[in-house]
Order: sequence, then structure tokens, then C-alpha cells
Amino acid sequence: MTEASCWQALPALILSAMTEQNPALPDKDCPLCPRLVSYRQTNQAAQPDWFNAPVPCFGDPQAEFLIVGLAPGVTGANRTGRPFTGDWAGDLLYDTLAQFGFSSDTYDKHIDDGLSLNNCMITNAVRCVPPQNKPIGAEITACRPFLLNRIESLKNLKAILSLGRISHESVLRSFGVKLKDAAFAHGAKHDVGGYKLYDSYHCSRYNTNTRRLTPEMFADVFATIKADLAASA
Ligand code: SF4
Repeated sequence: MTEASCWQALPALILSAMTEQNPALPDKDCPLCPRLVSYRQTNQAAQPDWFNAPVPCFGDPQAEFLIVGLAPGVTGANRTGRPFTGDWAGDLLYDTLAQFGFSSDTYDKHIDDGLSLNNCMITNAVRCVPPQNKPIGAEITACRPFLLNRIESLKNLKAILSLGRISHESVLRSFGVKLKDAAFAHGAKHDVGGYKLYDSYHCSRYNTNTRRLTPEMFADVFATIKADLAASA
């Protein structure tokens, strides 16, 4: 789907929720998910100094590589306003990005740390923090046009890394690919929508504490992506 046809396919309510400045970014008061709007307002009242809004993408607009997480963590990206910033998952993700030359290696858990990404961008399948880190199906569906628009606005994009099954399935659905035709598996690689889609278990504290995902397993996925990008140059 081209960017133009993507826009034509978007319902009017979603179009009105997108900012004029950046079509890949929903409005800070995006109304599309009532449960998440309610949670956002609860967090705004309890923590008025936190970001408490749909978290924008972060990274290089010329990127060949897009990372798609699940959703902001309540005390991580929802607090700081940058994906994966300020919580455990970010520690492992940004360490790994630095290891493979995708960042300036200045990550320090807050948005004023001077971090920049090289040839990489980060977003989430769901832009607003969900209670217990668990978005429901309707919320994943409502936020998918923002994900698709993000993907299609990256003109140099070649590789997408999905962190976890929900991210993987939302990318597949963005391109109308049946789930059975590209099953999620850690370390798997698929052809989707003209891109290479790579899968990893999410770099959450739970997954790393249980050793479902080790730093070495995570690094192996990035090594594959790095090598594939180099081979495609
Ligand atoms: S999750 Fe996405 S679609 Fe839902 S309210 Fe937030 S920005 Fe809007």
C-alpha cells in the first residue's frame, strides 16, 4: 500500500487524531481508545510532571531499520516521553543498539541525555500506556494506522524488528498478511510488505529475569539485521 492509498483508507476520526505537523504522530489527546484515555487522565492527575500522552517515535528519519515495541511502560516511556526510556527494557535495548553502532551510545535513562540513533527508529504498536502493559485487541487495531503510516513514511526502510508477538501480529495485519503465513518465533525472519520482518522476544524485565531472552539471544538478532543491511547496501 502506498502512503497515499494508506491515507485514503484511514477513517475520518483517525485522520482528525493525527497531528498536522507529523502525520505519523497522533494528537496528544488522541481520543480513539476510551480505556487508555481514562488511564492517561488518571496518570495525568496523579503524576502531572510525567509525559502522559501518546509517545512519539524516536530516531533517524532516514532509517533503514525500524524497531516496533509493544506499548509505553507506565514509569518508562509514559513518564519520560521517549520510547524505551527510563525502564529496564530500555537499558537492554539501548545497550544493544550501541553495541551494533545504531546509536550515539549516550543513553542515560532521560530524554536530555543527548542520545541519537543511527539508521534506526523506534516506535510502538500502541502509542499510549495500557494498564498492566496489556493493550486489548481494539486498542491495537485503533493504533495500527499510526504504525502503518510510520512504516510507510520511512522511505529507506528495509528491516523491521518486532519485539514480541503483539508487535509482530500488528505489523502483519498492517499489510494484510495472514498470521499463519508468518508465525512469530524468536529469531525468525519473514518477507512482509516488501520489508524483512525480524522477530525477537520482547526485552522486558520479565523475559530477561526468566531467561526467556538473554542479552546474547537479543544481540544475535541485531547481528543478523546488521549483516543483512550491510549485504543489501
Ligand atoms: S493507543 Fe493509539 S489510537 Fe489509542 S488513544 Fe493512544 S494514540 Fe490513539
